[in-house]
Amino acid sequence: MQIAARTVVNFHYTLSNDSGEVLDSSQGGDPLTYLHGAGNIVAGLETALEGRGVGDSFKVRVAPEEGYGVHQAQLVQDVPRSAFAGVEKVQAGMQFQADTPEGVQNVTVARVTGDSVTVDGNHPLAGQHLNFAIEVTAVRLASVEELSHGHVHGPGGHAH
Ligand code: ZN
Repeated sequence: MQIAARTVVNFHYTLSNDSGEVLDSSQGGDPLTYLHGAGNIVAGLETALEGRGVGDSFKVRVAPEEGYGVHQAQLVQDVPRSAFAGVEKVQAGMQFQADTPEGVQNVTVARVTGDSVTVDGNHPLAGQHLNFAIEVTAVRLASVEELSHGHVHGPGGHAH
């Protein structure tokens, strides 16, 4: 069976940046499972998986526009240290949820300069090319229920 809309796909992946540093991998654990055509994985990877089958191995380099987005300068802001009341020591790399007019946003502390904290609301991998090494391990038809929910049920998926 080929990967197409309305199929459920299991695959192993290793994700590296352009320096060859491994950022994430499913090797040694369970494969990732997703419903194809539902936008559940980054667009560039979903496109590259289209038409593949069980046992296929390939590499794909995904541009930021098809990955976690380009880095948006307006999502980087300086906020006063006092905005982190209750946090003992604010340090670069810490992640917080911020209430914004557009809703809750995940932000990462980029740096702390005196009483000023620079926070970045971009995805940590925004602006980066994503180098995936992929191995497709299973493809099956999605159930009617999975299609109506827009995600996979069972092992590796939603359990509800
Ligand atoms: Zn569901």
